[in-house]
Amino acid sequence: MRFQERVVIITGGAQGIGAGCARVFSNEGARVAILDRDELAGRRFLDELGGQHLLEVVDVADIAQLHAAIDRVGSTLGRIDCLINNAGIHPPDTPIEQTTPEEAMRVMQINFISTYAASQYAMPFLRATRGTIINISSMTAILGQKNSAAYAASKGAQLSFTKALALETAPYGIRVNAILPSNVDTPLMRAWAASLPNPEEALERIAALQPIGRMAQPEEIGRICLFLASEDSSFITGQGIQADGGAALDY
Ligand code: NAD
Repeated sequence: MRFQERVVIITGGAQGIGAGCARVFSNEGARVAILDRDELAGRRFLDELGGQHLLEVVDVADIAQLHAAIDRVGSTLGRIDCLINNAGIHPPDTPIEQTTPEEAMRVMQINFISTYAASQYAMPFLRATRGTIINISSMTAILGQKNSAAYAASKGAQLSFTKALALETAPYGIRVNAILPSNVDTPLMRAWAASLPNPEEALERIAALQPIGRMAQPEEIGRICLFLASEDSSFITGQGIQADGGAALDY
């Protein structure tokens, strides 16, 4: 029970990695506040999770909605101990000539600007608890990804933001870290595979990219978040933890 009486905000927590994080924190006694635009999936997930958790229906691209939701969580639950910036999209693979700057801006808005904005809005609450921020970036931040320039750039922005903000907030006892997953078995991953001619073959190919022979499960990323949010990682800040099952080794 490493998070009893403590509050964690998870953006995009209705499914996938965010839901995996919610399960792990809930098991540790946390009050979980999910900020997600998918109300139906959010309600269904919280019913399944049980306990006294909260859903705020927000589109994180709308920073006014995001601000209001974070303030409501802080005042309703009385505190914020951890912010997990997880909400994100991965557009279908598209070369740069076919991706307009407007489409790239939308990816940046959802994947990065929301991370920046939520961190700013949560700051007064995190100063009070000497809390933590965890940004769900991606291995594409350091390895790149073909036909996904806007996505990879948004994930790189999250990583460099993590380092810069960690420097700024260290004097207040606020730690900021990022997690860089390679491939995680989530609805996003399954939707991507379904868009290809042979989804099963694509999922097998993706699993084989990890020397350990499989994708991660969302809860495995959740357990890294719990480590980064707890005293167990009290000397770690400004890091990008590569959660890749060895995928970047032996190039
Ligand atoms: P997912 O699509 O399965 O789940 C994402 C959740 O975020 C959904 O509940 C969705 O409703 C919500 N969401 C999306 N856009 C939103 C918005 N504008 N406002 C509010 N909620 C929004 O995705 P996932 O695979 O769980 O990915 C979560 C994060 O992990 C993303 O930032 C993604 O880039 C990152 N990531 C995923 C993988 C992977 O292999 N799945 C690998 C590396 C990084």
